Amino acid sequence: MDLGIADRVALVAASSRGLGRAVATELGNEGARLVICARDQSALQTTQQAIEGETGAEVVAVPADLSEDGASDHVVQAGIDAFGQIDILVTNAGGPPAGLFEQHDLDAWDAAIRLNLRSAIALTQGVLPGMKERHWGRILNITSIAVKQPVDNLILSNSVRAAVTGFARTLANEVAAFGVTVNNLMPGYTRTQRVEELAERSAEQQGKTPDEIIGTWESQIPMGRLGSPEEFAAVAAFLVSDRASYVTGTSTQVDGGWIRSLL
Ligand code: NAD
Repeated sequence: MDLGIADRVALVAASSRGLGRAVATELGNEGARLVICARDQSALQTTQQAIEGETGAEVVAVPADLSEDGASDHVVQAGIDAFGQIDILVTNAGGPPAGLFEQHDLDAWDAAIRLNLRSAIALTQGVLPGMKERHWGRILNITSIAVKQPVDNLILSNSVRAAVTGFARTLANEVAAFGVTVNNLMPGYTRTQRVEELAERSAEQQGKTPDEIIGTWESQIPMGRLGSPEEFAAVAAFLVSDRASYVTGTSTQVDGGWIRSLL
């Protein structure tokens, strides 16, 4: 299937590694020009070179901490300065810290909102006027399976990602007539560096090996294994493609069957 996005400009946020990097790479393979960002300049540059080498795509890398005021505008503007427009936006950021309700003060809630909700809104504010004007746009938010089935000990993430979903579902209707789609993609347990680090930390706390921790997660997944970032990126690429022109307001899980609900 030709996804029809060759030469489209895609801004993929938080993309020096993990899911964001995999999505950027997949879109680069489809011929898109890319804007990537992350906090760590040297990690970002390494990723930029790797994606350029692997895909032949033109990649602009913008160091930015998306939880800071003005950072999202800065990234969008750098993309527009380089390529003239942004056609595809994939919002993403790191995850907020784990913990129970009584372990987080209000500052922790503010930080989670800034990181995962406010950054998605600010990036969208930056790209939407151009998308509406050109009558073509794709916005895809990376959320989490926690939107459909909250994960214990992750109250910040569970709450803030539900807020992103409410924002996106409402915006989808407001901009549908302009040829702009807004969707969410919910990763399940996917083998990124972050998940491997989480397994190591849990292993230390519980006196187990990282493989044992991953084994416990895998036992809850009907497919019996973690997903790969590339499996996630393939679905993302379809949802931001020209071919997905009648898909909007959705949340799609890529979780090997982990969510047990009917819908
Ligand atoms: P990761 O830690 O491997 O990658 C996160 C990326 O975001 C990195 O490039 C990092 O540099 C960048 N980043 C982090 N904070 C940032 C900030 N403030 N500003 C700019 N860039 C920032 O994580 P991942 O596994 O790829 O997960 C991506 C998102 O998906 C996270 O929000 C995570 O909670 C969520 N998620 C992941 C999984 C999974 O299994 N991997 C499952 C559910 C949800």
